[in-house]
Amino acid sequence: MYDLIVIGGGPAGMMGAATAGARGKKVLLLEKNDILGKKLRITGNGRCNLTNSSPIDDFSQSIVNNGKFMYSAFAAFDNVGLINLMQSLGVSMKVEKGNRVFPASDRSADVVDALGRRLRQNNVEIRLNAAVKEIMVSDSRVGGVVLEDGVNIKCGRVLLATGGMSYRQTGSTGDGYRMAKMHGHSIIEPRPALAPLLTGERRFKDLQGVTLENVQVRAAVGSRQAEQQGELLFTHFGLSGPAIINISSYLSRKATFPLEIKIDLLPHFSTEQLAERLYQCLAQNKGKYFKNALGGLLPQKMILLLFEKAGLNPQKQVDQAGRKDVDQLARTIKSLTVIVSGFRPINEAIITSGGINTKEINPSTLESKKIKGLYFAGEIMDVDALTGGYNLQIAFSSGYLSGASVVV
Ligand SMILES: Cc1cc2nc3c(=O)[nH]c(=O)nc-3n(C[C@H](O)[C@H](O)[C@H](O)COP(=O)(O)OP(=O)(O)OC[C@H]3O[C@@H](n4cnc5c(N)ncnc54)[C@H](O)[C@@H]3O)c2cc1C
Repeated sequence: MYDLIVIGGGPAGMMGAATAGARGKKVLLLEKNDILGKKLRITGNGRCNLTNSSPIDDFSQSIVNNGKFMYSAFAAFDNVGLINLMQSLGVSMKVEKGNRVFPASDRSADVVDALGRRLRQNNVEIRLNAAVKEIMVSDSRVGGVVLEDGVNIKCGRVLLATGGMSYRQTGSTGDGYRMAKMHGHSIIEPRPALAPLLTGERRFKDLQGVTLENVQVRAAVGSRQAEQQGELLFTHFGLSGPAIINISSYLSRKATFPLEIKIDLLPHFSTEQLAERLYQCLAQNKGKYFKNALGGLLPQKMILLLFEKAGLNPQKQVDQAGRKDVDQLARTIKSLTVIVSGFRPINEAIITSGGINTKEINPSTLESKKIKGLYFAGEIMDVDALTGGYNLQIAFSSGYLSGASVVV
């Protein structure tokens, strides 16, 4: 008889299983894929941005939904604990821009292999190709699980760590939501987060492939203003890149479309400084068209769009351009309006916003408040963060706390 059955061999499930195993519990880990950590392998473009080296108390600033719910989990196992664990398993780590922590080898497979070693060290039994169909519950107590092939496995404690709903090919197909809902849990509607944005404005499609290294994106979210700075990429469907991906998480459950976002294309200039700089460009380019006199401040492919948005005639000569035109262009560059029509589909989102309602989970143990012996960890819970390694830390910390909370 097992002390704990873990459903899902992602970072949350593997950490939960290994932690309970390290405490002498007899653990069975069930994973429906033929390998562990299929999503973990593709994180950080195959390099795995494992966590962030900022102080753990600052993590809540980067968690978009239910950061406070994570306090106990972070206190139980934080980023330093995770980095030390990886190093003890032979994976050295390095820190990059934005305090992002990666394996020194740049190989996410090294992280997955290390977790596999940790599971074996702690005698966790692993069954691959084992899809769970449902959790058995009677009198509000867990009784075990039923596999897709009809096999029943009895156990009084189950950790549900089946992930969210994005990148379904990695195994996260939303099974856990259905299983928890069957037993009375409420699910905050799963929506795409950390997702590219669509625009119906055809002229932005002409910019496909243009990348801007440092822009500031702003959007009104209810009564608040969300802001993100970083790279922006124009694509055939609209907008992508880190600044867009991050702001999408703030829009995920609050925005109604169509929605206006504002992009400051040159945030290191004030509007006045930019107008001054444009003037200098014009002075140095007399005899040219205004549109060809901007001194490489922005990619040439963007200029016609900016003139159109600013209501300026691109055929105007530099000598005909007055202060009003320059000021208007500067204002447009500092606050380019894009009408966003929605998100790319949830399957293309990096993370799912929504999931098991955190009000129904005890934050100190991650046990369900509705079903005795049912625990949750990772993306299945209604917690999501910006990019930077925070989402994996959420998975590892919650996996650890749930595994450590199992008392037999
Ligand atoms: C492209 C991409 C890049 C990312 N990069 C980063 C990054 O660099 N840093 C970062 O912090 N975050 C990153 N993330 C987010 C991160 O991968 C997730 O937050 C994390 O994997 C969630 O872990 P989890 O264990 O909760 O769920 P998952 O990793 O989704 O694992 C859930 C597991 O449960 C299994 N499962 C599902 N249903 C069943 C069932 N019925 N029976 C048995 N098993 C089942 C699945 O097969 C899967 O293996 C990225 C996400 C994507 C999509």
